Amino acid sequence: MTAPTHTIPRYLSAFHPKQLAHHFVDVLIIGGGLAGLRAAIEIDAGLSTLVVTKDKLPQSSSAYAQGGIAGVMDPTDRFEDHVADTLRAGGGLCDEQIVKMVVHEAPQRIDELIRWGADFDKVAGELSLGREGGHSHDRIVHSVDATGREIMKAVIHWTDRLPNVRIWEDAFTVDILSADGTCLGALVAQQANVCSLVWAKQTILCTGGAGQVYRETSNPDVATGDGLALAYRAGAEIRDMEFMQFHPTMLYVAGSNRTLITEAIRGEGAHLVDCHGHRFMGDYDERMELAPRDVVSQAIVAQMDKTRHPSVYLDLSQLAAEHVHVRFPGITATCAEFGLDVAADLIPVRPGAHYFIGGVTVDAQGRTTVPGLWAAGEVTSSGLHGANRLASNSLLEGMVFGAHAGRGASQAALDMPDRFEGAAILSPVVADGGDQLNLGDIRNTLKSLMWRFVGVRRERDSLVSALGTIEGWCQYVLSRQFREPAGWELQNMLTVAKLMIEAALARQETRGVHQRADFPNTDDPHWRRHLAFVRPADDSC
Ligand SMILES: Cc1cc2nc3c(=O)[nH]c(=O)nc-3n(C[C@H](O)[C@H](O)[C@H](O)COP(=O)(O)OP(=O)(O)OC[C@H]3O[C@@H](n4cnc5c(N)ncnc54)[C@H](O)[C@@H]3O)c2cc1C
Repeated sequence: MTAPTHTIPRYLSAFHPKQLAHHFVDVLIIGGGLAGLRAAIEIDAGLSTLVVTKDKLPQSSSAYAQGGIAGVMDPTDRFEDHVADTLRAGGGLCDEQIVKMVVHEAPQRIDELIRWGADFDKVAGELSLGREGGHSHDRIVHSVDATGREIMKAVIHWTDRLPNVRIWEDAFTVDILSADGTCLGALVAQQANVCSLVWAKQTILCTGGAGQVYRETSNPDVATGDGLALAYRAGAEIRDMEFMQFHPTMLYVAGSNRTLITEAIRGEGAHLVDCHGHRFMGDYDERMELAPRDVVSQAIVAQMDKTRHPSVYLDLSQLAAEHVHVRFPGITATCAEFGLDVAADLIPVRPGAHYFIGGVTVDAQGRTTVPGLWAAGEVTSSGLHGANRLASNSLLEGMVFGAHAGRGASQAALDMPDRFEGAAILSPVVADGGDQLNLGDIRNTLKSLMWRFVGVRRERDSLVSALGTIEGWCQYVLSRQFREPAGWELQNMLTVAKLMIEAALARQETRGVHQRADFPNTDDPHWRRHLAFVRPADDSC
């Protein structure tokens, strides 16, 4: 599918190679979450490797992950069952070979995390395995309710030991550099937003998701979809942009950062009640609170509409208070900050954008469609998740594809001759960002618009209206050249939002997390396929 995106420039910023500093590395990794660092660990020790991250290293979705990482670790569990669960969740769009590859590699990847120092919960010396929605067996390896923090502590520590890996924090990647369709590195802005040209033999994109495009989201501030937009501008194929997974239970308290409340809490027996105290899930699905995420999210949205109330509530009062506090220390502490006892009070929750399923198309090795550019983690569409991600499969995907992309990029860099020259690429000055635009205002309005019109339930008229509004903003925001991350992020968010809506409009069916109120059925004959976008080659300005 070629989108009519004529307002999207090739480069966001003006630059001239004679005016900027140049850096030369063998492998450039954009993003310092789990996928990026796992890739860095895989690079040959003789190759110079640079990891750039736009914030501090611990600021990534990886560090926020709560529930755990999935893998067949119990002798009574079977690879076939993990494969079958993943395919069932994926609504007919998974790539079965990729699913098998990832599932079979999971124990090896979890073992290496343990070797690097991750301290997962155990019972009687054995890994304590949890279960989450959609899994037919206990197979979630976890560290209380802060698994991501534990994993990232171990992976950051392991990466620190590697003399060939340098990390630049607070380094914003503005664009991929390319010539003749091949990736040559990236334009990176560091302190005071001064840009430099980083030339790399091979580049790996690991920039994570795009939850910040929505007002309600579990994602950290860094998740603005930059990698999707810059890969698109560089000519990479991106696909499945209509599939955003919403998490049903985000804490909804004024002033809170929309903290995610893990579904493990419903697994332990928490009820969902509306503002009248009615336990409503039975009205929607016989699996009650343990129905899949998308079903629970839809039921909550429908019940909020029915009761005209801005949230529903988690009720844990029937569980033993001490057990709740010990099992969920993070959530207990967060709720306490707002005067709520998670074990006794009703906890206000509503759905929020959680995991972006679509992304840059990659093969089993993490190769994108642009030579020299690899990708791993949430920024990709690897074929693992199909139309709906199975819980705890995404940390696993970051580990597996981080390792594969790292290995592939490393070998490709080893096969190339050493050169210390850039290419004659420049991006002319066409327009100044100016100071008339209130970037924060557009960003907040975009997030509200996406939440209202491109949220859990979609239908044609509101999608068309949202697209028209965003195209209007694109006209005067994408045509400017900003000199700071706030501007670049807004341009990336608009690009991603526009592609998401175009895909959501095009897919005239309901599949996985994509729910069309006007097309409530799944339509395999027409739509059991991916929707891919490639930026038109001549679309430059
Ligand atoms: C609250 C929460 C709970 C979750 N719980 C689970 C769970 O229990 N199990 C599970 O499997 N998954 C879970 N997930 C999903 C999972 O954490 C993510 O999908 C996964 O960690 C993504 O890893 P990543 O390395 O691809 O991206 P991230 O970890 O998000 O890392 C992205 C990196 O890219 C950098 N970056 C982004 N843009 C730029 C730019 N322009 N320039 C430079 N750097 C840039 C960021 O600074 C960051 O370092 C959860 C997610 C959230 C938000």
